[in-house]
Amino acid sequence: MTANYHTHSRWCHHGTGELEEYILRALEGGLQELAITEHVPLLGDPDPRRMQYDEFPAFNEELDRLVEQYRGKLRIIKGFECEYYPEMLDSYRKFREEYGYRLLILGQHRSSDHVWDNFALTQPGQLARYADDVCAGLRTGMFDFLAHPDVFMAGYKVYDRHVKSAMAQIFALCQELDIPVELNANGQHYKRNYPCPPVWEDARAYRLRCLVNSDAHTVDDLLCPSVEECAALADSLGLCRISTLAIRP
Ligand SMILES: [Zn+2]
Ligand SMILES: [Zn+2]
Repeated sequence: MTANYHTHSRWCHHGTGELEEYILRALEGGLQELAITEHVPLLGDPDPRRMQYDEFPAFNEELDRLVEQYRGKLRIIKGFECEYYPEMLDSYRKFREEYGYRLLILGQHRSSDHVWDNFALTQPGQLARYADDVCAGLRTGMFDFLAHPDVFMAGYKVYDRHVKSAMAQIFALCQELDIPVELNANGQHYKRNYPCPPVWEDARAYRLRCLVNSDAHTVDDLLCPSVEECAALADSLGLCRISTLAIRP
């Protein structure tokens, strides 16, 4: 493992550890690149389980300080993990353009109208909705990779034709747009039923670039064995696995 492009910290209110602890762990593990990708603050703060808007200046200041402090030792990339919420896209753009958050990840944890929790979907129609949201998000061109595409397996549990069809829609678009897809080691570590092996068997039918990330929410998550387990899953299936990302200027 030479890079991790999906990292949280205590700033998200459901993780632990200071930013600098993650940086030190990354250095211990020999990483060359570490993207800090907190859940993006949302206008109006509809979600208490993430950084609130008024916490952003302090977070940003600390992150900028650490980027400078570790320059030459570790390439720290400023990023955010974002849902596709149409009304928030301008604010995401502002984080990229004004504050240098150059890596924006699409991680669709809720439906784009904020109604459904995508960890708790049970109905086929909800999967279709999830696929439509993800595809609309990818089509904005704002996002650099798709986090945990099969996240809904946390709640949906059963691999059936509806899962197959939702994933076919998503994978076909990732292929068309050449957007990498993530095998998420956090889901693996906490046994959330994703990455879901049959989903990734189906992924072989597409030309996809696959990326393994820890999605760390604790310092110990960063280099935990599930990262290697996900890499082994991808390799055993013959998927095209990339280990570094070209970051946009
Ligand atoms: Zn999180
Ligand atoms: Zn995440």
